[in-house]
Parts: sequence; C-alpha cells; structure tokens
Amino acid sequence: MTRFKEFFRCLLWLALAIAIHPCMSLRAQEVASFADPQIKAALREISAGQIQSDIQKLVSFQTRSTISAQDGASISAGHGIGAAREWLKSEFERYSRDCGGCLEVKTDTFTQPVSERIPAPVGITDVFAVLKGTNAEDAKRIVLVTGHYDSRISDPLDKTGFAPGANDDASGTAVSLECARVLSKLKFPGTIIFLTVAGEEQGLYGSKHFAEIAKAQGWDIQAVLNNDIVGGDQSPGQDAKVVRVFSESIPDNPSEQHLRAIRALGGENDSPSRELARYITQTARTYWVEVAPLPEFRRDRYLRGGDHISFNAQGFAAVRFTEFQENFNHQHQNVRTENGIEYGDLPKFVNFDYVANVARLNAATLASLAAAPAAPQNVRLETKGLTNDSTLVWDAPADGRAVGYEVLWRATAAPDWEHVQLVVKAVKATIPVSKDNVIFAVQTADDAGHRSLPIVPVPER
Ligand SMILES: [Zn+2]
Repeated sequence: MTRFKEFFRCLLWLALAIAIHPCMSLRAQEVASFADPQIKAALREISAGQIQSDIQKLVSFQTRSTISAQDGASISAGHGIGAAREWLKSEFERYSRDCGGCLEVKTDTFTQPVSERIPAPVGITDVFAVLKGTNAEDAKRIVLVTGHYDSRISDPLDKTGFAPGANDDASGTAVSLECARVLSKLKFPGTIIFLTVAGEEQGLYGSKHFAEIAKAQGWDIQAVLNNDIVGGDQSPGQDAKVVRVFSESIPDNPSEQHLRAIRALGGENDSPSRELARYITQTARTYWVEVAPLPEFRRDRYLRGGDHISFNAQGFAAVRFTEFQENFNHQHQNVRTENGIEYGDLPKFVNFDYVANVARLNAATLASLAAAPAAPQNVRLETKGLTNDSTLVWDAPADGRAVGYEVLWRATAAPDWEHVQLVVKAVKATIPVSKDNVIFAVQTADDAGHRSLPIVPVPER
C-alpha cells in the first residue's frame, strides 16, 4: 500500500465521519478499514522459516508428555517436557533482550495430583511472557494468545515413546512464540500475554490453573486466542485458505436473569466469545490476512476440547483456532507405517506457510485490541415505547481515547455484522431500523482506526 493510498483512505474515513447523515448507514464491508502501518509491518516480519525452526526444535525433545522427564540430566540431554519448558523460557528471554527487556518472562508451576491421566503427582509449568501496556489505565486490559507445548501418542500414559506433536500442538506454541517475537518490537497501550501451557493432553490442567489464577486475581482478560492444531496438515481435502474459529454460544454458569434475556431476545449468538470471533473476521479483512477465519458457532469439535474452555469456564471470552480439516492418522498416534499408511504427528505433514498466516491473523487481532481504546460502557437500547426506530445510548470509556463510535447491526438470523453507522462525539444514536428485527452492538474507534470489541446493549425501559 503506497503512502498516497493510505492518505486517501484516511481522507475517506474523515469524509464519511463528517458527512454521514443519520438516515444513512453503510454495509459493514464498505466502511473504510484502517490498517495500522506499524501492525502491517509487524505482520510482514512473521516468518514461516522461524516457525519451522520452532516446531522442529519442539519435536527434537522426543516427547513433551506432561508426565515425561523433567530432571536436570534429562534437561541437559534435551529430552522430555522439562527441556521443552526451559527452551521456551530461553526463547522468550531472548526476545526480551532484543527489545531492551520489554517482556516479563514468567512461569507458573503447580503440582497436579493423581487423576485418570496423571499416574503420580506431577509438576506442571506454564511459561509466559507479558508485554505490559504503556498506559497505566489501558494496561489493565489484557489480550492473550496461547498454545499447548505438551504432546502425546496413542497411550496418553506413555511417557517415553517418541511423541513429536508437530501439529498438536507445536504449531500453536510456535504461533504464541512468533507473536511474541514480532509484537515485542512495538508498544501498545494495552497488555498482551504470550502463553504456552502444559497438561492439555492430560486434562487441560495448565490452562485451568492459569485461568483460575487470572480470575482469582481479577485480571481483566478481554480476549483469549487458543491455537491448537493450526499446522495445516498437507493431506488431500485440506484448505490452506481457511482456519476454523470455534466460539461458545451460551456462557458457563449464566444467571437465571441472563438466561431469561437470551431466551426472550435471541441472545444465543452474541456471547463475548462470539463477538471476539466476529472481531477476528473484521481484522482479517482489515489486514488482508491470507487465511480467512471460518466461524464455527460451537464451543469445540465433537468429542474434543481445548484450553479456551478453561478460560470460558472462568467467564473470559475465548476462541479456538484449528486447521480446516484434521487428519486423525497424524494426531495422538504412535509413529509407524501400517498397510502403507503413515501414522504420527511429524513435521513433514505441517504446512509452515499456513502456520505463519494463522500467526499473522493472531498477531493482527492481538495488536488491534491492545492498541484500541476501551470499549463503550453501559451500552443500552431504549425500549420505553413502541417505535420502529431504535435509540442506543452509552457512556464514553474513561480513557478518553475514543474519537468516535461505530453502531453495528445485523438481521437476527445473520451470522455477521451487516451495517455500520459512524457516530462522532455523541454517545447516543437513533437508527431508522426496528430493534425487533436486528441485533445491535457499539464499538469505539480512535483516530488511527483501532476498534474495541463491540458491546451488545442491554434493554432499558
Ligand atoms: Zn491439542
């Protein structure tokens, strides 16, 4: 994109913001989208070669089973989950040195007691890096990317057999690492956490512990991006242009009042996790990411789960990225050839360019959210009287960074936002559309076009 084109886009947005008449709205896809040049440059830095080397390094530990060796001798020999954990920590520390110490590199270690897939108490360690926001108030808002670094083969209790786990889930771990490497070179008002967890294959233990701590300590995590099996397995039927984005419908433990509102008004497609999934679609369009999110309106696949569920259970918005078509011969299998069929999760099946595109989609989403102003507060939809117009009111977020708002809406049966109206300065808008036929949301935007997550209004009499 030339500077002239960028300038033209800015002019177009300004013209729209100033000139738009209250009776006019735009198709959501027609709104001038702002690609932040710094974020665009960071996406170009994401390297398929680096991702390939990360995945091969993780595979080189032979097994990353949560119950595999983590004693000093095994770590020195480069075998087992302990060695993988130490390597991840050293990678985050290396990125931090490259950005003048901008990352806080941390571990969370706990002992998991005996359970179905934990034959003896075992230490589990999550490794993460925090890119703290530059603005004290905004820094309280956290966005998080995660992948699980543990692996398994046919028997989940096998702690010594070769368990490469290249796709499941060295690929997701590499996404977290690569986002950290590239985004640590930028500064954002909000905070980003780059997480790698263990214990997933034994029962989501690492993410569960992390999410429980976050909840207990009152962390304001606004978005969790879980990448699990994003290797783009190169089998027939794969579509390397698409990544599935799973999001839950009705959140865990809703109050009876919340459930009643969902039933009465059709709120089952507007959980915070689903708004996050739509935000990812919007971001992919803005940054022309080469892999398109395919929204899946369910929490996860049949018979399967993942670390986003641990965050959902604590009330956080969390989604799962997974390749379009999985090859089950290449997951959770001992490496072998039988009747001419190759089994096992080997690097040769991974499409590293695909993983890089998934990493770009993650990085664009993390950066957009960390750069955005806070979301509008206290968003309400007036329902005092029977009218065919719809009036929304909200409060400006306290950070004072919002220069405008976008009121979004879609038909009740439509999956994604269809229309948008820009609102400058005001914190109220009347849309000439019946609230009975659509679902609304409001998001903030700053002068560089960074947008918050959209907030669905609550009815106000
Ligand atoms: Zn997995």
